[in-house]
Amino acid sequence: KKTDNQILVIFGASGDLTARKLIPGLFNLYLAKQLPEKFIVLGTSRSDLTDEDFRKRVVYESPYLKEKLGTQENGRAESFANMLFYEDLGGDYDTDYSNLRKRVETLKEEFNTSGNIIYYLSTPPRLYETIAQNLADAGMNTQNNGWKRLIVEKPFGYSLETAKKLNKGLHQYFDESQIYRIDHYLGKETVQNLLVTRFSNSIFEPLWNRNYIKHVEITNAESVGVEKRGGYYDKSGALRDMFQNHLLQIVSLVVMEPPIGDEPEEIRNEKVKALKSLQIMKDHKTLYNNTVRAQYVASEVHGERVKGYREEDGVESDSITETYAAIKFYVNNWRWEGVPFYVRTAKRMPTKVTEVVVHFKSPHHQIFKDSGMNNKDNKLIIRIQPDEGILVKFGVKVPGQGFKVERANLDFYYSSLTQTYVMEAYERLLLDAMQGDATLYARADEVEAAWEFVDPILDYWKNGKDVRMYGYAAGVWGPENADDLIEGNGFWRNPGKN
Ligand code: NAP
Repeated sequence: KKTDNQILVIFGASGDLTARKLIPGLFNLYLAKQLPEKFIVLGTSRSDLTDEDFRKRVVYESPYLKEKLGTQENGRAESFANMLFYEDLGGDYDTDYSNLRKRVETLKEEFNTSGNIIYYLSTPPRLYETIAQNLADAGMNTQNNGWKRLIVEKPFGYSLETAKKLNKGLHQYFDESQIYRIDHYLGKETVQNLLVTRFSNSIFEPLWNRNYIKHVEITNAESVGVEKRGGYYDKSGALRDMFQNHLLQIVSLVVMEPPIGDEPEEIRNEKVKALKSLQIMKDHKTLYNNTVRAQYVASEVHGERVKGYREEDGVESDSITETYAAIKFYVNNWRWEGVPFYVRTAKRMPTKVTEVVVHFKSPHHQIFKDSGMNNKDNKLIIRIQPDEGILVKFGVKVPGQGFKVERANLDFYYSSLTQTYVMEAYERLLLDAMQGDATLYARADEVEAAWEFVDPILDYWKNGKDVRMYGYAAGVWGPENADDLIEGNGFWRNPGKN
C-alpha cells in the first residue's frame, strides 16, 4: 500500500507511551523503509524541550532504543532522530494553538510533507476533547489541503455515558472517518490470525457454532501486579482496563459472522453486530452468579514476599477495585445460542499469557468406553501471547492393546517463521493509520456496544447487594470460587500446561 507524505503530531510527547512504544515503533518502520519519503514527527506537550532535548530523550538516551541503537550504524539513528521535532504548548493543553500551527506550517514547507497530518493523542484522556476543539479553533482540522486524522489512545471513556460523551465531543470537530481509536491488542498478529483461522480454512468454520462448540474460554493473565500504576489502576480495575476493550475485541472476532470481504467497514460492521448480540446481564441473579471479582493479597512468590493489592502505592487501603475479573456470558444469536463464554483477566497470576480456547463437544456417541477420554474434548487454542501460535488437541490411540485414547497436539508457532519479520502492535497500527486503513481500529458504535455490555456489571459491582470480593494469593490462578462459574464444563484451563 502507498503511504502519503505526512506529519505526525504527538500530544503528550514527553510521556511514557511516546518513548516506550511510539518512537520505537516509528524507528522500526524507518529501518524497514516503511515510512513515506517525506515524513516528520512533531512532538508537543507542556514540558519545555528543544528539538535536541526531545531527540536525546526519545532516541539517543532512550532506554527503549538502547539495544537497537547498539546494533545500528550511528548514521541511521541520527537520520531518524533528525526527523523528530518538538514544540511546547506553553502552560496548558487548553491554550491557543496558533504557535503550534505556525510550527506545523513551517515544517511542512521546509520538508515538503504536504498538508496530511495525523494527530496522536497520548495525554491523559480528559484532554482528548479539549485538544480536538483547540485543533478545530486553530483551523487545523480542515481537510482542504490534505487529510487530517486523529488517533485516540485508551481508555476510551470510563462508562457508556462518558464514552458516548467523548464520541459526541470528538464528532463536533472530526468526522468518524478521521478518528482512529487504538486498541493495541488488534495490532497483534495472532489476534488478526483469528480471522484467517476462521475464514480461510474450511475445517474450522463449519464447526464454529452451537452444534459443535461446548464453550469458549478466554484468559488474559499478567504475572506482574499494578507496578507503578497503582493510582491510575485503582480508579479503573480489570474490567475497564482489559475486559471492556482488549478482551471484548477478541470476543467480537470469535463471535462475528463472516464479513462480505476484508474492507475495514465490512469487518467492523460484523464486529459491532457481534458485540450487540452479547446478552446483557440485567437481573441480580445473573450478575451474582455469572461474575466474579477478586484482589490479590500479600503472599510469597518464588520465596519473595509480594505486596497485596491494597498495600500498593497509590491504592486506597479499603479499595474495592478488582485485579481479577471472571465473567460468564451468552451470545444471543442463531450461531451461539446456549454456548457459554468464560472470560477472565487478572494480575499477579502464575504466568503471563493471553489465549482463546475453543472447547468442542464430545462425539455424540462414545464408542471407546474405556478410553479414559472423560473431560478431554477437542480444543483449539489460539495463543495470543507469549509463544504466539495455534494448537489443536485431538485424540490418538495409545499404542498397544485395546482402544485407549490420548491427547496429541497439532501446533504452529509464529517463532518458527524465522525468516519473517513480525511487526510490533504499535508499529503495525501506526502504519495502518498512516495509510488510512482503519480495519484494526475501533469504531464509535463498537466502543459503545462494548460499554453497553460492561456497564451493568460495573454498576452491580459498585452498588449491588451481596457483591462479593474474593482474595487470592499472588502467584495462583485466582480465587477458587471462579471455578463455580464453569461448573458442569470442567475447569479453567491451566495455560501453563499444554
Ligand atoms: P504519561 O507518561 O503520564 O504522559 C502523559 C503526557 O501527557 C505527558 O507527556 C504529559 O506531558 C502530558 N500531560 C498533559 N497534562 C497532563 C497532566 N495534567 N498530567 C499528566 N500528564 C499530562 O502517560 P502515558 O503512559 O504516556 O499515557 C498516555 C496516554 O496513553 C494515556 O491516555 C494512557 O492511558 C494511554 N496509554 C498508555 C500506555 C502505556 O503503556 N504507557 C498504554 C496504553 C494506553 P507534559 O506534562 O509535558 O504536558
